[in-house]
Amino acid sequence: MISPSSGVVTQGFSGSHPAVDYAYNGGGSTSYGQPIVAPEAGRVTYVGQMGTGVNDAGTVVQIVAGARTHRLCHLIPSSPTVGANQQVSMGQVVGQMGYSGYVIPAGMAGSHLHWVMEINGLRVDGRQYINEKIGGDDMIQNNDSEFERWWKLHRRIRGEGFSRDYFNKGFVGQSAITMIDRIQNDPQADYREYAGDIGNLAIKQDWLKVIEDLKAGGNIPQAKIDNLIKEAEEAVAAAKKLKE
Ligand SMILES: [Zn+2]
Repeated sequence: MISPSSGVVTQGFSGSHPAVDYAYNGGGSTSYGQPIVAPEAGRVTYVGQMGTGVNDAGTVVQIVAGARTHRLCHLIPSSPTVGANQQVSMGQVVGQMGYSGYVIPAGMAGSHLHWVMEINGLRVDGRQYINEKIGGDDMIQNNDSEFERWWKLHRRIRGEGFSRDYFNKGFVGQSAITMIDRIQNDPQADYREYAGDIGNLAIKQDWLKVIEDLKAGGNIPQAKIDNLIKEAEEAVAAAKKLKE
């Protein structure tokens, strides 16, 4: 991913400003008309006016890349060079820096870019993702060869493949580095791996009978409950150890 502007950061990400602002040294007229580019490859989902009052973002180009959404705000209204549903590549010019919407100070002097980035709907500091230097050809595409490639890698690392649906929902539009990291650290995959072993131990040690006995017993001694918890903890530890 790259920065959507080659200007300087004039306001960083915070709770009260969950976005990153860019402008150019030299003031509003220097900033006005500067190119705004797509921070990563994706699909344009909206171009036009967004927001009202103090949340008036003016003319916005919105780009979606997998779980990530970018909103490039306050553009010159006539400047967007892309339309909704259009695919864009990383670095492609999508519009020009302007002062549409609510900017301080109002007018030319307030020209800047307000860049909103979200992952699964949550605001994030886009600058944290710039150094990935991932995009364009590195993005995972939805086609058969890509599905096969990632299925094989997943099976090699995790011992099992995945469904086409899982691929389409979780992989398409993500970067290769993000997905390798995800495959390696997939907690759900770990759970599934351990679950079989824990289940075998539960059958072997007849946990179901123990639970039924406890239910039937009415007045259960604390020592027996403590012992059951201890056994369960040991079984989980043993199942994990099998995988080491
Ligand atoms: Zn801002």
